[in-house]
Amino acid sequence: NNTLHIIGGGMAGSEAAWQAAHMGVRVVIHEMRPAVGTFAHRTGDLAEMVCSNSFRSDDDEQNAVGLLHWEMRAANGLIMQTADRHRLPAGGALAVDRDPFARSVTEALMAHPNVSVEYGEVDSLPESGQWIIATGPLTSQKLGQAIAAETGQGALAFFDAIAPIVHHDSIDMSRAWMQSRYDKGETEAERTAYLNCPMDKPTYEAFIDALLAADKTEFHEGETAGYFDGCLPIEVMAERGRETLRHGPMKPVGLTNPHMPDVKPWAVVQLRRDNALGTLYNIVGFQTKMKYGAQTEVLRMIPGLENARFARLGGIHRNTFLNSPTLLDDQMRLRARPNIRFAGQITGVEGYVESAAMGLLAGRMAAAEILGHPLATPPQDSAMGALIHHITGGAEAKTFQPMNVNFGLFRPVDGLKGGRRGRKDRYKAYTDRAKSAWNDWLANSRLDAEQPV
Ligand code: FAD
Repeated sequence: NNTLHIIGGGMAGSEAAWQAAHMGVRVVIHEMRPAVGTFAHRTGDLAEMVCSNSFRSDDDEQNAVGLLHWEMRAANGLIMQTADRHRLPAGGALAVDRDPFARSVTEALMAHPNVSVEYGEVDSLPESGQWIIATGPLTSQKLGQAIAAETGQGALAFFDAIAPIVHHDSIDMSRAWMQSRYDKGETEAERTAYLNCPMDKPTYEAFIDALLAADKTEFHEGETAGYFDGCLPIEVMAERGRETLRHGPMKPVGLTNPHMPDVKPWAVVQLRRDNALGTLYNIVGFQTKMKYGAQTEVLRMIPGLENARFARLGGIHRNTFLNSPTLLDDQMRLRARPNIRFAGQITGVEGYVESAAMGLLAGRMAAAEILGHPLATPPQDSAMGALIHHITGGAEAKTFQPMNVNFGLFRPVDGLKGGRRGRKDRYKAYTDRAKSAWNDWLANSRLDAEQPV
């Protein structure tokens, strides 16, 4: 039949429902709250903001998340229109009055003739029909188990352990070098797959002191029963002993520093390529619960990273997410069950805005398929396209962790100067190129059935 079912009425599910409804498709949202709650939600409203009340930067020329705002506004996005109506003064950020915001999203959806909401937990995967699963980082346990049974345990994570990710062009290569441990690998690319930052003994000792002293965040109550041994935060490793890191992720063995071939490093921090473009590198094994301010300070003590810019900082959270690069096609359909799409944070994006953005795309794509005019995947040069491309193909599947939108996901623009001034021009060039690519996609994807707001 022609109904689109959406499980989860959060950021992604609400936006997906709005988009599909406006294209003339009937939508049923299945939402478990208020009968079944999570440790973070407080209300029964759709699109509840579980923590901060900010959609982050609204600068659509110099900031990738601001650009995503722009693209969502251009696409009649419900989350953005409603945020604009409930905006609070917050400098360059888009902060909102959270309760009226969520109530307005709920009312707008309830008032739409094509939308209905069924309350109650969905605990198994649907057999037939068109579905979007947008149950978010706190997907209920039963549904999580049903998804894991379909995808395989290894392809659905229940925690993220995010190592910080650095923009490659901010790393000082006069201190760092490329080499895999013991030069292992069949090809030259494999033998030089890692970026290494050496430490002498005094630097290592100072680094450990800073780690131990740094401000850390605590887990939310009910968020976890404990750490997994495979993903201990670096500061917990340092607490277990000053040498633990030197025998773990900072092992100095099998590596020779070409800048100082006669000096054996005391410890080595390794970074690994994080995307196919080679613009982003993650710091291997450096998941951490250090607060963001402390984190940048401590990580910039690493030789070579003194001026590092971070595409995202590290963290460990309760977070249900798929290994999307292996499981989803470029339309966000489960390859093995193409009548089921995923959207929102469960696809491995991170943040309210990114989750709503992936809902917008999933809603449009599902509706278009139901209407018999499938949509092309958005161009990679748009922020929407850069994100969907990253999660469904561009990211390394083996080390896949949730991702914020950032300019490191974009194809570089050639012919621009480096440095601070150059960066401003580069970001403007990215955002100009993205807006034009997104407008083209929108123009080509309008359907006759689409109804005005
Ligand atoms: P959600 O908005 O969580 O929506 C999922 C919906 O599915 C919920 O309404 C839930 O009740 C429902 N659901 C779950 N299981 C079922 C089921 N089996 N049947 C029916 N319904 C179900 N991002 C930020 O940008 N800023 C922040 O400050 C921020 N803080 C966060 C704090 C915490 C504790 C967590 C867990 C995440 C945070 N995030 C934050 C990350 C993320 O952006 C938000 O969680 C965002 O709401 C994700 O959108 P979503 O639509 O994917 O999921």
